[in-house]
This record gives sequence, C-alpha cells and structure tokens, in this order.
Amino acid sequence: MPAATRTDPLSFLSDQLNDLKSKGTHFRLRVLDDEQAPVCTFDGKKVINLASNNYLGLTTHPRLREAALDATRKYGVGSGAVRTIAGTMKIHMELEEKIARFKNVEACVVFQSGFTANAGTVSAILGKEDFIISDQLNHASIIDGARLSRAKILVFEHKNIADAEAKLASVKDQPGRKLLITDGVFSMDGDIGAIPALCDLAEKYGAVTMVDDAHASGVLGRNGRGTIDHFNVHGRVDIQVGTLSKAIGALGGYVCGTRELIDFLYQRARPFLFSTSHPPSVAATCIAAFEVLEQEPERIDKLWENTRFFKKELGLLGFDIGGRNTPASETPITPIIIGDGKLTMDFSRELFQEGVFATGIAYPTVPEGKARIRTIMTATHTKEELEQALEVLENVGRRMAILG
Ligand SMILES: *Cc1c(COP(=O)(O)O)cnc(C)c1O
Repeated sequence: MPAATRTDPLSFLSDQLNDLKSKGTHFRLRVLDDEQAPVCTFDGKKVINLASNNYLGLTTHPRLREAALDATRKYGVGSGAVRTIAGTMKIHMELEEKIARFKNVEACVVFQSGFTANAGTVSAILGKEDFIISDQLNHASIIDGARLSRAKILVFEHKNIADAEAKLASVKDQPGRKLLITDGVFSMDGDIGAIPALCDLAEKYGAVTMVDDAHASGVLGRNGRGTIDHFNVHGRVDIQVGTLSKAIGALGGYVCGTRELIDFLYQRARPFLFSTSHPPSVAATCIAAFEVLEQEPERIDKLWENTRFFKKELGLLGFDIGGRNTPASETPITPIIIGDGKLTMDFSRELFQEGVFATGIAYPTVPEGKARIRTIMTATHTKEELEQALEVLENVGRRMAILG
C-alpha cells in the first residue's frame, strides 16, 4: 500500500503535544555546541550555565580525559556484552572496589546509570507481598522500580516523619518486607532527606533502609561521600545508591551495601543482567574521579563557597528561593519559585536571551502551581560569572514583574 494512503496511527500524540504547547510547557531541547562548562554555548549562544549537574567541573578534568583516552587505547570502545556473560572487564571490578572502599562498605555494584541502579534494585529485592514506604518527592527511578516490583507503595508526605511512621505502623502486622526509601538530596528543591530520623523509624519497625544519593555524591559528606557520611549514620542505611553521572562527571550509577546484597543484585537486577556494561573508558574515568575527590577536596570547598554566596544574593534580591510553601534548599540546587508554569517557561527563555541558562521546571515534574527556575552552582563558576548572572536575573525578574 502506498505510504500516502495510510493514516498515521500515532496521530493521537499530536493532541497531547498541542495540549503542552497551549499550556506553554512544551520544550525544545537545548543543544550544547562545546564542553559542559560554567560558560558555554547552547544553540549557538554563549551563556552562563546554571543548569548543569557537573558540580565539581569533572566533565573536563584533564586527568579524567586522560584516563578515558588511555583506557580506550588499551581496551577499545566497548565491553561487548552484559556483565553476566562476557562483559565484566577487570576495570569494572576495579571501579566497584574503589567505590566500596571510598564509601566504607563491603561491596558495590555499578549500573549503567543512576536510573537503572534505583529501578533495578528496588524491583529486584521486593515482590508483590512487600511494602515500599516512599517520600512523596522521591525520584522517578525509585517510583518506576517500585511499580516494577509490584510491591504496595505507601507514599508519605515529604520529609514528614510522623506520616512515614503512620505508614509503617499501618502495615507492621503484615508479613511482607518493608523498604523505607528516600532521596538523599531532593533534586527539585535541593533539601536534604531526614535520614537519621528515618533510620530510627526503620530500626523501630524492622524496615530496610535505602537512600538515593544522586545529588549528594561528590557534594555532601567528607570528600563527597554523601549523606550517610554527612549525618554520620554509617551502618544504618542498608542500601546506598549513588550516581556517576553528576558530580563524578561521567555516566553510571552504583549500589553499596553488604557483600550479600551486591551478590544478590548480580544475580537478580535486570539492568545488570540484560543491558551491556560500560565502555572501559567510562569505568576508567570514574576511577580517576574518585581519586580526584580524595586528592582535590578544595573543589568541594569552592562549590559550597559559591553556593552560600549565590543563595544569599538571590534571597537579597527578593526571589522566593523556597522555604515559604516549598522546602528550603540546603545544597547547591537552588530553585527560584515562580508558581505559574507558563510564566516560568517565559522567564527561563528571557534569561537565556540575556545570557543565563537556568532550566524552567513545571508540572508534572513539580506540583501544579509550584513551577520554578532551577539554578545549580558548580565549583568552577567564578565570582564574576555569578555576579553577572545575578544582574541578569534581577533585570529580567523586574521586567517580568517577578520581582517587585
Ligand atoms: C539524576 C538522578 C538519578 C538518575 O541518575 P542518572 O545517573 O542520571 O541516571 C536518580 N536519582 C536522583 C535523585 C537523581 O537526581
């Protein structure tokens, strides 16, 4: 049959796209022309980049580049198979050992991404008789993992310990296992999970604890060891997830815990079993990144210095940076709450035109009425760049009546 006479069976998607367009929340991908850096070129325009998770500037660190090139020369560009068949290279094992030592745990398994680490782990360890008690603002990969596990999902109000306890208490006499799970740092608000209190609850109710430290890896704790180290709750969090895609600068995710947990995930986590492992260059890059975390702690100091400065100045300008109807940020992620989705997207677009790239985030990524611009500090922004960004934010904020 000639193609012209066939109606597109996917035409129903255009209604949904038009809906997004009419709400003003449809987006186009911004394309980076050069390196991921504090000042770089997106869509042909040079901007101050406040949108990147490259917290420590490691995406372009000379030592990481060299490690990637060296591994490529020695071992080629691909691993050739999934880990459980022929795709476990020595360098993959070295990376897992490196991370386990860094985090002071028995063992570690590396996944292709933080997303697959979460989704693969939650779905592997729980079944349909079990319960997952999950913070309302947990990352999508935790939610997807929970759904895949077919466990019953009990969502507690964000960081509300009394509500988390009520949820645990409601199922305490049921035979299923209970998993209490939280993000270490919440990616949309920049606040830190109530981890010590959740550990207390887990101990009281015999629940397993799991923390997703994607935005805390390389950011919080000694040398960037994450929230478990930040709160000194070593030994009280059974499953620690981290990412290699944000501060570490490359790509991947990992799970840390007991040797048994890791062995179980080797046997049962579906992304580990059914999706090819990292190219050797990625593993080598990540090994070098952990060495940099240990040897260049000044990067983390600089990240926090920039964070304190930028947050203080945003507040002084009069922006709503959380803490009114939204959680207050405690990390390099600082949201500027606007409320209306369309105004937020327009604000982001205007900022971009004026040379500042800060992503607009609206429903369904954040609740309706809580749309925001998200800003992220890095260690590599200079004071001058931050001052310039603040000036643009102020000017555009006034022009659009976001600031009074
Ligand atoms: C980014 C993120 C992930 C996913 O990590 P990737 O390595 O990018 O797949 C998981 N959890 C949280 C909280 C995140 O912010």
